[in-house]
Amino acid sequence: MLQTLTHVSLRPRNTFGMEAFAEYYSELNREEELRSLKDNPAYGAGLFVLGGGSNILLTGDVPHWVLHNKIGGIDLLQEDDEYVWLWAGAGAVWHSFVLYCVERGYAGVENLSLIPGTVGAAPIQNIGAYGVEAKDVIEEVRFFDLEQQTFRNFTQADCRFGYRDSIFKGTLKGRAVITSVVFRLNKIPRFHTSYGNIRQELDVMGVTELSIKHISDAVIRIRSAKLPDPEKIGNAGSFFKNPEVPNARYEQLKAQYPTIPGFPLEGDHTKIPAGWMIEQCGWKGYREDDYGVHKDQALVLVNYGNAKGADIATLSVKIMDSVKHRFGIQLEREVQII
Ligand SMILES: Cc1cc2nc3c(=O)[nH]c(=O)nc-3n(C[C@H](O)[C@H](O)[C@H](O)COP(=O)(O)OP(=O)(O)OC[C@H]3O[C@@H](n4cnc5c(N)ncnc54)[C@H](O)[C@@H]3O)c2cc1C
Repeated sequence: MLQTLTHVSLRPRNTFGMEAFAEYYSELNREEELRSLKDNPAYGAGLFVLGGGSNILLTGDVPHWVLHNKIGGIDLLQEDDEYVWLWAGAGAVWHSFVLYCVERGYAGVENLSLIPGTVGAAPIQNIGAYGVEAKDVIEEVRFFDLEQQTFRNFTQADCRFGYRDSIFKGTLKGRAVITSVVFRLNKIPRFHTSYGNIRQELDVMGVTELSIKHISDAVIRIRSAKLPDPEKIGNAGSFFKNPEVPNARYEQLKAQYPTIPGFPLEGDHTKIPAGWMIEQCGWKGYREDDYGVHKDQALVLVNYGNAKGADIATLSVKIMDSVKHRFGIQLEREVQII
């Protein structure tokens, strides 16, 4: 049976650095341990699966059984002339997985370098950055279904991926413990350099002959310069999703706010950077006590030391209200409030 501790501090286990205690806490190292979960007295408290804690905001003690996913490892399953199929444990660190691929010339995840968190959380919100999403390389997700008490393997299509979304945030929310993911990576790279400042950074780096290592390095350099390091200032990256609005709505907004940025999507929608709207509402650099909005990134809410999760949650509501009031757009949180 899993060793279970009580009253465990989660402060070192969430990138916001919020103090909160787990009523029960266990580390999950092997997927077989899930089969006997129900026999544990802590099961009655309800489960909360924790990865790297980089997409959650803890607003108080967690009165549940926190299952910290530590199932590690990366294995080569199969390869042909074009592709390689890799298995990775859900508890493996995402960036280590990316570096593993980059070092071996397996292309597809280099644009997702330096995203904090674990492999198992990548399918949950279909992590994405610089024009690439996890769904582009995910072949299969294996999870333990708490309702059926069985292991299930979902194909990419079964996962119903969307923008920062999947079935694991929908109908399977709270029901699936992801134990591993199979990725299909390319031996013949297709470079994605048109998003963000990747091209400019490659120029600064003096790159003439492009490789996935160069792209990964460029992304690491850009992210390190742009995003606050959670080791220094507590944060969970982008707090809100970028809203997608019908093109006609975007044109109306553009007539009213000529500088509003917009990125055309497939179909008839345009993505508007939430950070731009938050900045227009005057929130960028806002600070109260130990919490606020980052001075350079309006999309990132921060804990300067001893902030309370509840204060940051309240601030997020105020920000959503002011964006709604000014632009008529309802922002959605990307970070999960616990
Ligand atoms: C500085 C910074 C930059 C970031 N940049 C990006 C970015 O560019 N793009 C992006 O998409 N995200 C970004 N994020 C958000 C975050 O890194 C990702 O969402 C990441 O996938 C979260 O992983 P985690 O292991 O920390 O998940 P956690 O925060 O531990 O958990 C998040 C949710 O997933 C659930 N969960 C975690 N693991 C499992 C599992 N094995 N089975 C079932 N449920 C599970 C948890 O219960 C919780 O609901 C950033 C965060 C930070 C701090």
